[in-house]
Amino acid sequence: MTTTLLDQIGMLVTNDPHGKAPSSGRDEWALGILTDAAIVLEDRRVAWIGPARAAPAADERHDCAGAAVIPGFVDSHAHLVFAGDRSGEFAARMAGQAYSAGGIRSTVAATRTATDEELRAGVRGLVAELLGSGTTTFEIKSGYGLTVEQESRACRIAAEFTDEVTFLGAHVVPEEFHADRTGYLDLVTGPMLEACAPPARWIDVFCERGAFDADEARAVLEAGARVGLGTRVHANQLGPGPGVALAVEMGAASADHCTHLTDTDVDVLAGSGTVATLLPGAEFSTRSPYPDARRLLDAGVSVALATDCNPGTSFTTSMPWCIAMAVREMHMTVAEALRAATRGGARALRRDDLGRIAVGGPADLVVLASPSYVHLAYRPGVDLVSGVWRAGHRVTSVAAGLGPAAGGRSHG
Ligand SMILES: [Zn+2]
Repeated sequence: MTTTLLDQIGMLVTNDPHGKAPSSGRDEWALGILTDAAIVLEDRRVAWIGPARAAPAADERHDCAGAAVIPGFVDSHAHLVFAGDRSGEFAARMAGQAYSAGGIRSTVAATRTATDEELRAGVRGLVAELLGSGTTTFEIKSGYGLTVEQESRACRIAAEFTDEVTFLGAHVVPEEFHADRTGYLDLVTGPMLEACAPPARWIDVFCERGAFDADEARAVLEAGARVGLGTRVHANQLGPGPGVALAVEMGAASADHCTHLTDTDVDVLAGSGTVATLLPGAEFSTRSPYPDARRLLDAGVSVALATDCNPGTSFTTSMPWCIAMAVREMHMTVAEALRAATRGGARALRRDDLGRIAVGGPADLVVLASPSYVHLAYRPGVDLVSGVWRAGHRVTSVAAGLGPAAGGRSHG
């Protein structure tokens, strides 16, 4: 087994806090920062963490030269299986047009006519971007096929790249079911679910005006839960609504967007095991007000940040950019934003092993080209990722070796 020493780490963010929480600076304390540190990776795991001066020998050595090292980002919300381009729609929106959930239908039309290889190539390219910007775990949703065949194809292709596959047949009611919503719901909760469940771990629903109401969304989530899928909800993005309450009621892992919340929504989230996943790319791309992250954090809600990468309303794969936006526009501290993009995402996927750097845990980490994690927000738009290790392997050529056989898991 090859061992790798990452040496001379100026600032190591472990997300594994030690000692008692201080009365102030709790947000940074939670990052579990070590200075002048070193790490040894063995196979797919972290084998040793300690002071650089006490670092043991290893087969390979990487000198971090005083740079910061952080856990790999965990992007818990991404729609990567699609075809077509919606830049024109974005441009029109920036020129003053409003967003409605119906735009999804144009991507559905393009996706249905794409070949498997075209869809796969699209995912491969976006996964390369994710890895290159420091994301070591990512979720992929279906939701642009909306037929049994098309949705199961999307889930199968997604499963070639990640274990975190989400069935989102209930993204929007497709055109051909316009006059028969019940018929579409029967399809989603019946044959489509049956075809999509095997490669999927999660079921999701777009609970929003223009998509699915509370009763419809509940039926979708209950059907998924019956066949063993975990639940997540697109909730309260475009206006106040029942999505967050439903997510908590269903014990969902995550309520995503949370842009328009009542006090009751915040209270029920705070008392629940449901993570509020905030997606600043969506507000950016639709020129909408950002979610009130401070209100959630101050109420004790568990918060995650994710990209919502999709062609319509948030076409970014960059978690560092999401961190910068969360800090500048949503008033999160830099420490809170980094934690939400790592541990928060792990919680939103119910993966306690991810989003931190701990002995025995997966060797998923990012070497930054800066002395502090703060630069992620302090230097927005600048590529600060100088090295990515995923499952113990250095990601060197992110575009290569990501075929079905590699499963996007080991390349170096
Ligand atoms: Zn989404």
